[in-house]
Amino acid sequence: MSTILVLIDHETGATKKISKQILTVARSLADDVQAAMFGPGASNGAEVLGAFGASTVYVWNDEAVTSYATEPQVRALEAALDASGADVLMFPSDPFVTDVAARTAVRRGAGVVTDVVDLDVDGDALVATKAIFGGDMISRCAVRPGIPQFLGIKANAFTAEEAGGQPAQVVELDVALDDAARRAEIVEVVEQSTGDRPEMTEASIIVAGGRGLGEAEGFRLIEQLADALGGAVGASRAATDAGWYPHQHQIGQTGKTVAPQLYVGAGISGAIQHRAVMQTSQLIAAINKDADAPIFSIADFGVVGDLHKVIPPLIEEINKRKG
Ligand SMILES: Cc1cc2nc3c(=O)[nH]c(=O)nc-3n(C[C@H](O)[C@H](O)[C@H](O)COP(=O)(O)OP(=O)(O)OC[C@H]3O[C@@H](n4cnc5c(N)ncnc54)[C@H](O)[C@@H]3O)c2cc1C
Repeated sequence: MSTILVLIDHETGATKKISKQILTVARSLADDVQAAMFGPGASNGAEVLGAFGASTVYVWNDEAVTSYATEPQVRALEAALDASGADVLMFPSDPFVTDVAARTAVRRGAGVVTDVVDLDVDGDALVATKAIFGGDMISRCAVRPGIPQFLGIKANAFTAEEAGGQPAQVVELDVALDDAARRAEIVEVVEQSTGDRPEMTEASIIVAGGRGLGEAEGFRLIEQLADALGGAVGASRAATDAGWYPHQHQIGQTGKTVAPQLYVGAGISGAIQHRAVMQTSQLIAAINKDADAPIFSIADFGVVGDLHKVIPPLIEEINKRKG
């Protein structure tokens, strides 16, 4: 593969973990990896992407990125694709970025695969793996030769590793916007509050609760433990389906993929659909009253006991040690 372009997701120049993961996998597949970074702060955060293997970063800081819906970013992405000459684009499989990538794909006649969890090369083809039909089946998708390939990568499907490369060359894009690009204006942005807790896919500590909590109120205990540890809150599908916690916190094949430094699971049995996407966590601790629960087969630390009795003294001890 000659060149892969990576569309970077960032917060005023601070690259998100998912984009570092994508750069890492891209450089294992391509001779040259380039990146595109749009919006406020892009110029500040571009050069450091060289550490993850990007040779060139195309930036566009125009405020149109935050003032108007998708279209201005589509124009900028087209300019970056032209400048890089890449026929493979990788982007975070997140609703906002996917919106930009999907529109661009239609214009360029590209084949799009989202929610990619693995990639391998078969002859000249780049083959993407994803779960389909709610996780019941695994699909492997390749795009016919000669057609541009756009790949949306699921968070935490790959591990981010620095390449130790030179600072990337930063190229400011000149993107012309006509009235058509400004047709849909963003009038208000309402951020869903996660309080002081980190976003789950970015968090280095996650405390997750399942059906063993018994009721929605049980999540207060999970939140208290997460807060004591400075972590995010996750949930099993049994808990989110029961309406005990919002679906965006679901960890699993049909939820989010996570790989924190510490995963604590309480009242979660460890069904394959849950385990499959969290078992690469660096340290796994499980609290379950059933000593035969499958989660113990992958846990580094396990407590067999009633979570309602185990968690409160645990929180107390953590807070005491924090002083
Ligand atoms: C296609 C498909 C996709 C799926 N996708 C997902 C997914 O994305 N994410 C996901 O999580 N699941 C998913 N599932 C569901 C999955 O198969 C399990 O049903 C689900 O993970 C079970 O959630 P749980 O562990 O909370 O509940 P259970 O399996 O019911 O486990 C509850 C656990 O709590 C323990 N417990 C009970 N009371 C206490 C207590 N007081 N103290 C301590 N422990 C206690 C029990 O011993 C038990 O091990 C999917 C299933 C299918 C078929």
